[in-house]
Amino acid sequence: MTKHCKYCSNLIPSIRKSSATYCSDACYYEAKKVRSSTHYSSQQAFINLFNRNKELLEQFYPLHQLGQAVTYAMLDGLQFNWGISEGELQDSDSNIWKVIGKYCYLLNTDKTIAIELCDNSNQ
Ligand SMILES: [Zn+2]
Repeated sequence: MTKHCKYCSNLIPSIRKSSATYCSDACYYEAKKVRSSTHYSSQQAFINLFNRNKELLEQFYPLHQLGQAVTYAMLDGLQFNWGISEGELQDSDSNIWKVIGKYCYLLNTDKTIAIELCDNSNQ
């Protein structure tokens, strides 16, 4: 009985185990990568990353208020996810702020971070 690879649809060589569902280890690993990226984009994964970002902004907002520099490296080292936000706001200087819950942040060109409470009440 001939079987086809679940990833590339090529015939699975007869030298592979009879239980094999992929034609090669390469296809097996590619399929595994696709599966994990699907998992990553799931709702729960997004919520976890979002909450992590919110926690970090909560933690660093008081420092920023005190005039201490909050930097890209500091947040990045704590697994802040730069690709995740609820939305974006543009200020009068055309800076794009990313919105995370009640906070918004701006990555400055000098790699410092500005964190402000954002007013969502008129949205
Ligand atoms: Zn294959």
